[in-house]
Amino acid sequence: MSGFSIPPSHPRYQSLLKRERIIEGFKKGIVAHAGLIAHGRGEAFDYLIGEKTREFGLKAEKAAVAAIMLAENPVFSVNGNVAALAVDDVISLAEALGMKIEVNLFYRTEDRVRRIADLFRSRGVEVLGENPDARIPGLDHARALCTSEGIFSADVVLVPLEDGDRTKALRDMGKFVVTVDLNPLSRTARTADVTVVDEITRALRNMREIASEMSREEARKILDGYDNGAVLSEAILFIRDYLGRIASQTREW
Ligand code: ATP
Ligand code: MG
Repeated sequence: MSGFSIPPSHPRYQSLLKRERIIEGFKKGIVAHAGLIAHGRGEAFDYLIGEKTREFGLKAEKAAVAAIMLAENPVFSVNGNVAALAVDDVISLAEALGMKIEVNLFYRTEDRVRRIADLFRSRGVEVLGENPDARIPGLDHARALCTSEGIFSADVVLVPLEDGDRTKALRDMGKFVVTVDLNPLSRTARTADVTVVDEITRALRNMREIASEMSREEARKILDGYDNGAVLSEAILFIRDYLGRIASQTREW
């Protein structure tokens, strides 16, 4: 920790703890400068849903697990923020659903890729991404790098906290893209096949639980009945109504 210890009684303890993890990750060369800004964007959107998993999040989490469970080569694409916030949750979900893990960075530096891979290795888990041998078409050099064994040949990719252009490039390759993104208005949220509007650590823990209970037959049914546009629209309307309620309470002060 960075010298400052957060009292567990603090009303926003969980949020502050995550902020500390991002700062620590930044100091260790795991999180990029832009990752700090992205985290703040995520925090702001989490406020708008009351920092809790909501119904629309849970629906998407079930569809996400279903898609991954039915996939042939599901790959978990990990960036600095995801590694800093949730390395153990990533490992647990990937193991439960038989996913490969690949480090894939928007601001790729070989040093950052190695540090993130080391974080996984320190837990006895091997990850892909240090020796890219393929490219995602339509992206410039560093952003396109991936591995043929992992993302390049994946049928389903879980890309949390991802950038809109890369999400689109993966869709254009014909992949089924699952994302976790607190901003229902982001290009990523609006491009993915399944958009989980929830905070990454909450989402991964929920998905891990769902994974242990879901059968393949249930997975097929859930996926067949899933409509991402409808769920995303629910998220946006939830925010509108939630803000409306807070506005009314505020007027009564
Ligand atoms: P886009 O490129 O998709 O239009 P953007 O440029 O605003 O979005 P990026 O930095 O490319 O954002 O992607 C990061 C996304 O992850 C943001 O939408 C941000 O709100 C979201 N985010 C950040 N932290 C978290 C978190 N802890 N849990 C879930 N989502 C998060
Ligand atoms: Mg972006």
